[in-house]
Amino acid sequence: MHNSTSSQAHDMGSHAAGKVYLVGAGPGDPGLLTLRGKELLQRAEVVVYDYLANPKLLRYVPKEAILIYAGKKGGGLHAYTQEGINKLLVEHAKAGRLVVRLKGGDPFIFGRGGEEIEELAVEGVDFEVVPGVTSASAAATYTGIPITHREYTASVAFVTGHEDPEKKFSAINWEKLAGGAGTLVIYMGIKNLPDITKKLMEAGRAPETPVAVVRWASTPKQKSLIGTLGTISDLVVEAGIRPPALVIVGEVVQLRHRINWFERRPLFGKRVVVTRTRVQASELVNQLEELGADCLECPTIDIQEMDDYSALEQALPQLSTYDWLLFTSPNAVHYFFRRLQLAQLDSRALAGTRIAAVGTATAGILAQYGIYADFLPEQFTGEGLADALIKQGVAGQRFLLPQALEASKVLPEKLAESGAHLTIVPVYKNLPTVSSGEELRDELSRGAVDVLTFTSSSTVRNCFALLACQDASALRQLLGKTRIAAIGPVTAATLQDYGITTHIQPQQHTIADLVRAITSHYGHDIPRPNGSFS
Ligand code: SAH
Repeated sequence: MHNSTSSQAHDMGSHAAGKVYLVGAGPGDPGLLTLRGKELLQRAEVVVYDYLANPKLLRYVPKEAILIYAGKKGGGLHAYTQEGINKLLVEHAKAGRLVVRLKGGDPFIFGRGGEEIEELAVEGVDFEVVPGVTSASAAATYTGIPITHREYTASVAFVTGHEDPEKKFSAINWEKLAGGAGTLVIYMGIKNLPDITKKLMEAGRAPETPVAVVRWASTPKQKSLIGTLGTISDLVVEAGIRPPALVIVGEVVQLRHRINWFERRPLFGKRVVVTRTRVQASELVNQLEELGADCLECPTIDIQEMDDYSALEQALPQLSTYDWLLFTSPNAVHYFFRRLQLAQLDSRALAGTRIAAVGTATAGILAQYGIYADFLPEQFTGEGLADALIKQGVAGQRFLLPQALEASKVLPEKLAESGAHLTIVPVYKNLPTVSSGEELRDELSRGAVDVLTFTSSSTVRNCFALLACQDASALRQLLGKTRIAAIGPVTAATLQDYGITTHIQPQQHTIADLVRAITSHYGHDIPRPNGSFS
């Protein structure tokens, strides 16, 4: 992190000379970035990144850094020419900035890293290079192909297939390569595949030689196809495989059926939409991705502070007069404690009051503030909490409820009916996000979404507001075959209000249980932490 004083210094040109770091982003899986690469992203002032570098890596970059997309989609429009990129790097470095040039895979393996560095050297710009996991290595590993194997091959060659087949003198000696290396990995070879396979067979490589084609290796979109030198070109056309993809030729490909770990994960290939606030989405997304799902984060809610906290401020000095403090969401806990601190109080102010949480997630956040909830219902819903408290007897007792402005009224109404005295204090607001629902609409109408997840009634309302369908039948049509997953009965009831049926709903209303329910919907059971399966 740099502070504003140092960035001001850059603008005035008084900072030491800048530097360019050419960093390998790895093949796609963000976990395959090197530690050195991450450290540099965290310090970057300018990041110039490619189409093949996973944009998720940009989360490490400080907010105030300049991000430049340099494009370069195979065959498509280039956002910048190579000269343009070189010029950018030189300019920003000369302005005294720390520049990270983030390139897919390894910068020096078909990445034009050499050319960019030469330009920097000519201009006298300081630079360093950080290697990355090249896509050949990832494609092999993530499809279960050992790229070398003592029993099958002792050599591997990385080759570009991008050459113009009409070119009179190829720089690649396919005849020698055909028999010269046990495993061949061909980058950028999809367009010329018919020509390449033909040349290899003409040079004596057997038509039965196994071949794998891997698209978007190591990402949730990974697609792999197995054939032979004789069949693979036709298979690729049939399957409609487009770049970026790698071709792996050699006997090692046959070992794949034993070690294909990545594509065997329970949610592999499933597109799951997560509709939550950006902050909260990460837990659900992390758990789904761990199981192989391809997540689209579609934040529908922005959590915001209230404009006015006077109701809570009045209640805080008299906390000890309340018998119960009820928390019905993790955010309620965060915002309550924030106000407590601002009032220069700490958790000792809660000493005489019993504290209930609606479920384990809320209780977990309380624990972060050093408070263990006294009470947790069996059913993790507002209604479940009301029923469980009423069983204990609530008549005449005083309850303080810090909650969302838009929170459901079921809990307070039930408690009031049973004779409780309630003070309801809104501590935060759930607002629909301003972002448009275009991407989600587009994916739904293409039938590309397998599961749409909802973790509260407000995510339902906001998501459907984003989708802007005329009526229930238009909405049902847009959702098509998409499975609807709801965290609990309240959310499912809200879905029902829109005429939408819930297909997946866990018995316990936690994120982990929701993930488990989705997984078992697809026929896989994942064990609970204690080892049982239900
Ligand atoms: N420097 C990069 C390669 C850049 S050339 C590296 O080391 O991986 C671009 C080609 O790399 C693409 O056309 C494709 O053949 C291959 N490629 C890059 N990332 C890939 C991925 N995730 N899956 C499959 N192929 C990939």
